[in-house]
Amino acid sequence: MKYVSIKCTEQPFTGRYYDFNEDANYKCVCCGNDLFRSDAKFDSGTGWSSFWTPIKDENIKEQLDDSFFMRRIEVMCNKCGARLGHVFNDSPKPTGLRYCINSASTPA
Ligand SMILES: [Zn+2]
Repeated sequence: MKYVSIKCTEQPFTGRYYDFNEDANYKCVCCGNDLFRSDAKFDSGTGWSSFWTPIKDENIKEQLDDSFFMRRIEVMCNKCGARLGHVFNDSPKPTGLRYCINSASTPA
């Protein structure tokens, strides 16, 4: 099965933290749940913040998203349900995963 990136929830290069490359944890803006670490962030060339692994699998929730006639996996905060972005399996990283995250996840 292959999921292809067509469109994320934000326009590319507009996410507030796209250029934020300092060492940090990325937390949910709604509830402060730890989601990603900057050392798992990579430049996927898409213009969105991309991570190849979450801090902990159980901190995020994945849900099938069939909207816009595309089958994608939506990533949500497992604590409060905030929508974070989508995950795709076209990453060059060891996990093969690319978490395409919008600025609902904030470095702190
Ligand atoms: Zn949350």
